[in-house]
Amino acid sequence: MSAARAAWLREALERASREYYVLDRPVLSDAEYDKLFRELRDLERAHPELRTADSPTLRVGAEVGATHLAKHAHLVPMGSLNNAFSDEELEDWASSGRDVAGSDFDRSGFCCELKIDGAAISLTYKDGVLVTGATRGNGTVGEDVTANVRTIRDIPLKLAGARWPSLIEIRGEVYMTFDGFEKMNVERVKLGEPVFANPRNSAAGALRQKDPLVTAKRPLRFFGYAYAVPGTTTLPFTTQWELLETLAGWCIPVAPHRALCTSLPDVHAWAHALETAHRAKLAFAIDGGVVKVNVLATQDELGSTAGGREPRWAIARKFVPDVAETRLVDIEIQVGRTGVLTPRAVLDPVEIGGTTVTYATLHNFDLIAEKDLRIGDFVQVKRAGEVIPQVLGPVPEKRDKEDSPKPFRAPTKCPECGTPVVRAEGEVAVRCPNELCPARHLEELIHFTARGAMDIRGLSEQRVRQLLEAGLISDPATLCDLTEDVLAAMPRLVDKSAQQLVEAIETSKSQPLSRLLFGLGVPDVGEETAKLLARRFGTMQALKAASTEEIEGIHGVGPSIAASVSAWFASVENRALVKALVKRGVNTTEPQRAEAEGALLGKKIVITGTLPTLGRSEAKDLVEGAGGKVTDSVSKNTDFLVVGAEAGSKLDKAKALGVDVIDEAELLRRIGR
Ligand code: NAD
Repeated sequence: MSAARAAWLREALERASREYYVLDRPVLSDAEYDKLFRELRDLERAHPELRTADSPTLRVGAEVGATHLAKHAHLVPMGSLNNAFSDEELEDWASSGRDVAGSDFDRSGFCCELKIDGAAISLTYKDGVLVTGATRGNGTVGEDVTANVRTIRDIPLKLAGARWPSLIEIRGEVYMTFDGFEKMNVERVKLGEPVFANPRNSAAGALRQKDPLVTAKRPLRFFGYAYAVPGTTTLPFTTQWELLETLAGWCIPVAPHRALCTSLPDVHAWAHALETAHRAKLAFAIDGGVVKVNVLATQDELGSTAGGREPRWAIARKFVPDVAETRLVDIEIQVGRTGVLTPRAVLDPVEIGGTTVTYATLHNFDLIAEKDLRIGDFVQVKRAGEVIPQVLGPVPEKRDKEDSPKPFRAPTKCPECGTPVVRAEGEVAVRCPNELCPARHLEELIHFTARGAMDIRGLSEQRVRQLLEAGLISDPATLCDLTEDVLAAMPRLVDKSAQQLVEAIETSKSQPLSRLLFGLGVPDVGEETAKLLARRFGTMQALKAASTEEIEGIHGVGPSIAASVSAWFASVENRALVKALVKRGVNTTEPQRAEAEGALLGKKIVITGTLPTLGRSEAKDLVEGAGGKVTDSVSKNTDFLVVGAEAGSKLDKAKALGVDVIDEAELLRRIGR
């Protein structure tokens, strides 16, 4: 029985590896693969006679078959990693390490790094110049992807600085950010090309393209974390930590959130912070952390497991899986403020990484057709960090052959008002064109009261819906007419909350014109454009009177935005709304900045991490109010970086570039608050 099971597991794992590594099209989730892999490993441990020479537990990756790519033999094999799914399993790893290296094991300290979910790559540099880029392949022989690797901007063609060994292989991970991945998929839908399942597979696929021009178009990034050199080489570092710093000095990007821990309890704390706090804020996927014995001499002492598949000096500290399988119960369609219809997956509730997931995004109708998602299908759902859970795709093998669900049909009418939907040429979005659509109306009101707009604290979406349904509000101006008595009569609203809500509405009336403009939802006017308009014209009256040409004259406002603004003010209903707001005492002016006196006049500032008291938009407003400009990325032109808790790569970059780093208190002091 065990022998039959072992053979079945070997075959299933082999097949999955081929789909995953060679075809970049996984059929199993990583969690499912890991489960089967562990089962086989445990079976082989209990019955060593069942272990065959070709067992997946002894091998790395998959065989490099015949492809268009030339083979590349690695200087030193590229291994895999053993996994620990809990603190206890990490402790077990440590005690096996102590068996080999004794007290050196703990004395060495532990270098903790992110486990980037990408494709492993080895870059050969000769005299500091990139000569080869190769995939991991079967660990010993990979595929030569040099021309493709050269298109990745993160990878220096020549190492910076000096003191690099004359021959070195720098190893690391090619990956895609969530953002780059999403944008690329949207682009592919537009071009009628199939979408990619996840950033890892698309990164791996992009690396192995025939045409480097295709690779160049994919948003690939790179992080380095390992090296290999010929045996006689003198290295400029003696620990893993120093290696990472050296790589950064050579201008090889190194992942953020690394830590040098002196004890295992510190490692556990780091891993927990990574899983529960940092992971959610990362712009790219990780599938855990990697814990490495820090001193290279101790790494050598520890060596690798039999078969050389895994080093004993490193282990992947994996997270609870973030992909699960469940049934797609329904596809709901939501109508947004601008009329865009967005499909949303309703799922049989499923637990992913400690959270119950019931809804997941489906992006647009083209993606549903592309993935052939059908109501009733079993689907794979992923929840990664702060990103809204998403449906990766159906599991067609689980479809009932006799009674297969029907293909999903995109709506031809708005589900709320029945108006036939429209789709502009070249756009993925399907819209309800009816400006009076009740669903759009509700979303407009919710937007008006939201944080970046009028910021009416305590007025939840649910409450707006109730007020609208009860006929107590009809447009933004009527919000100002709400009284404590009226609100107190609402279900589940106690007197105190009613009083607070009225106060919050009153306070919101003094918001600057920029927020009011944004809140009114003028098409194409986002937060930034609203600020530009409000600062240039100062009052709603002046903006309303401005010609399209005058609006277009503002730096940063294009002709289509200008046309949108003019059209909005030309509408009789909108003019009446503005009049009604003014009548109720809503501010329609923008405080003018004392440009010449601003304490941060002309300064370029970047903000990162969570600030102790200021929200991100508040901090931005303060900086801009003092004449400064907030930018997104740190460069040598940045005047200073304001850091809060859990700052990531921006802080590393600022330090590397010698940019001034300050905290919130110092920022407030500098602007005289
Ligand atoms: P692994 O992904 O568990 O760990 C080893 C790899 O981690 C290294 O090769 C390296 O590429 C990467 N890595 C990322 N950051 C690193 C860092 N800071 N330091 C060192 N290495 C780092 O092992 P693997 O052998 O690449 O693949 C096995 C895993 O792949 C499985 O656990 C499974 O999750 C997945 N897999 C899935 C399928 C599937 O069908 N879904 C099939 C095969 C493999």
